Amino acid sequence: MVSDSSPAKVPCSERGSSIIDPLLTGLRSGDRRALAKAITLIESSREDHRERAEILLAQALPYTGASLRLGISGVPGVGKSTFIEALGLMLVAQGHRVAVLAIDPSSRIHGGSILGDKTRMEQLASHPAAFIRPSPSSGTLGGVAARTREAVLLVESAGFNIVIVETVGVGQSETAVADLTDLFVLLQLPHAGDDLQAMKRGVMEWADLIVINKSDLDPEAAALAQSQIAMAQRPTHLGQAPDVLRLSALRGEGLHDFWDRVQHQAAALRATGRFDQRRQEQWRAWMWDLIHARLMAKFCAHPAVHEALRPIENAVVEGQMLPTEAVKKLMRLFEPSSPSTH
Ligand code: GDP
Repeated sequence: MVSDSSPAKVPCSERGSSIIDPLLTGLRSGDRRALAKAITLIESSREDHRERAEILLAQALPYTGASLRLGISGVPGVGKSTFIEALGLMLVAQGHRVAVLAIDPSSRIHGGSILGDKTRMEQLASHPAAFIRPSPSSGTLGGVAARTREAVLLVESAGFNIVIVETVGVGQSETAVADLTDLFVLLQLPHAGDDLQAMKRGVMEWADLIVINKSDLDPEAAALAQSQIAMAQRPTHLGQAPDVLRLSALRGEGLHDFWDRVQHQAAALRATGRFDQRRQEQWRAWMWDLIHARLMAKFCAHPAVHEALRPIENAVVEGQMLPTEAVKKLMRLFEPSSPSTH
């Protein structure tokens, strides 16, 4: 665990960047156990752990940012872990250091992590140039995503130059991953029905690359899906239409082509300045997410608001009070002296 000697035990006045956290020394020397401990530390919600985590992250910051951050999503069974393992093994063979982090929104609902299954990516997990971390097993989606943002910084400071953030293709978690990676890859099955579903859900809007996996099962359907999806694409938020590729993760076919496309897209984004721009936007979004979370916590914990919240909420739900009126009442309780709440 993370209870060994720590700067958090140093008095506040003496804390700061001059005392280097021993975990950072471990991270910098490539010690994977130190990295695992550091991530456990940032996942902890204990007050003293949070304090130490923040100092550690601040100290790690100068060593971060140099990796390519790749988001990968797709419905359960599409082949994410097969794909990431095959890709990861190809990349470590080329001399890269690959970290895989996961955001799993289902862990919140079911209490168990479907991405946390220990049998996934066994070969990659045991490779010395790889690091795989299942998702935290608790917390809200926002919370888990926030921890993942921090984990990305930690793995980068430990020298991993390719960071893959994986999520299950359900709703919000995809946008959360797109918000913390440089390129977002959506895995699809070679059947138009699935692809259309994803298009309807608006998920493809976020994808920089769309990969039709399991092409070996039905090459014709995969080719058809590829052309249908390619035709339906519009330029993404990054200003370029996503590439649509076919591959077979199981057979390892199409991986080199995939990696070429990733590098090509990253180079194109760098050349136009959009790569850095996107990261800057992500830092800004991270700050605002924290502000929202803090204000929300403060609002809900306010004694008068806390007491009135449920009855007011019920009145709104039952159509007896307009939400606008409810918010006014609650804001008056929260900030009785502010003229804007009157
Ligand atoms: P995940 O839930 O998205 O991580 O999916 P998995 O990687 O666990 O894959 C689900 C199943 O699909 C497994 O039985 C894999 O062996 C299989 N699978 C993955 N990729 C391919 C592929 O390219 N072709 C075929 N035929 N099967 C695949």
